[in-house]
Amino acid sequence: MNNPIPFNRPAWAGNETELITEAFENGWVAGDGPFTKRVQALLELQLIDTEKVLLTTSCTHALEIAAILLDLQPGDEVIVPSYTFVSTALAFLMHGAIPVFADIRPDTLNMDETKLEALITDNTRAIVPVHYAGVGCEMDEIMAIAKAHNLIVIEDNAHGLYAKYKGRHLGTIGHMATQSFHETKNITCGEGGALIINDPTYIERAEIIREKGTNRARFFRGQIDKYTWVDRGSSYVISDILSAFLFGQLSHVDSIQARRKQVWENYREGLTDWATARQIGLPTIPAHCEQAYHMFYLLMPSLEARSAFIQHLKAQQISAVFHYLPLHDSDMGQAEGRAPLGCPVTRDVADRLVRLPFYTDMDEASQKRVIEEIKTFQTGR
Ligand SMILES: *Cc1c(COP(=O)(O)O)cnc(C)c1O
Repeated sequence: MNNPIPFNRPAWAGNETELITEAFENGWVAGDGPFTKRVQALLELQLIDTEKVLLTTSCTHALEIAAILLDLQPGDEVIVPSYTFVSTALAFLMHGAIPVFADIRPDTLNMDETKLEALITDNTRAIVPVHYAGVGCEMDEIMAIAKAHNLIVIEDNAHGLYAKYKGRHLGTIGHMATQSFHETKNITCGEGGALIINDPTYIERAEIIREKGTNRARFFRGQIDKYTWVDRGSSYVISDILSAFLFGQLSHVDSIQARRKQVWENYREGLTDWATARQIGLPTIPAHCEQAYHMFYLLMPSLEARSAFIQHLKAQQISAVFHYLPLHDSDMGQAEGRAPLGCPVTRDVADRLVRLPFYTDMDEASQKRVIEEIKTFQTGR
């Protein structure tokens, strides 16, 4: 029997345990210690054009800080894609917004900017594009629509760290953006995230919200002589132990991304002819986007074909998985959200998309085996 091939597996850069030990030896294991500062500075350097990076306990929590910054009033609406992870909608709902669900484009599977304007009402406050699979949304159009209607744009960039749209890093285009360092993402510390602030007017309040509503950050900088409770907020600061772990990963970003690019290209080269002959869709990467190599997916002809395909690979101990269920059809989406235009593309894609095993240290033999097994699948069986 062949070894099982998982869908995802975290990969270690190599020096994480050394750095974690260093964090212990520093004697600073709470938040905002030397490693948190180093990671924030490194990300600010790597993501040119950003004003401020604040590490958080998760991407969900970074989205919550953004939601609190919006000062949402009863009835306020935030536009999110239906095809995304729960957190994109949940974080705004938690702080008072009605999620309004946008459909996606059939090519990149990103929020369809051509249908955005029809969703905007007098109550709309923000747009939250998700760069699906780390391929940029049409940010020029989204930013122009936001500007025309005086809306805030928060990029959920959980998949897209280091990817670019027209030469600019994803996460540096909207007013704010969020990153995830969850185990399933390209760069990880187990559980972690970041808020990226591009509009400097949000920096000071974001620091306060992240620190339980206190002005502790100003106190540590010596700008005030005692700190106190000044705003709403919560406990969103990440431990320096996890920041040390993250520093290890971030300082190996070139090799991690090069490896992931190779895995992605192997799938594309190995599967393009096979897929094209069977009307199976492959990822679309527009020429003006440099992607993040977060995942590789196929769009099967039907739900039945996808189920059979997943079973076919499972029988060979290969784990391929579907992805998001449409949020506008979920219990909470139905009860708390709105989808005035429906989301037909989201429903169709949610039924047909399958993600192939994809991880940084995927060895060539395993990947060859996945590609060979895929090619023995008979569509329409
Ligand atoms: C993973 C993910 C999140 C949540 O990230 P956490 O760090 O686990 O909170 C949010 N949005 C998208 C699009 C994601 O893929």
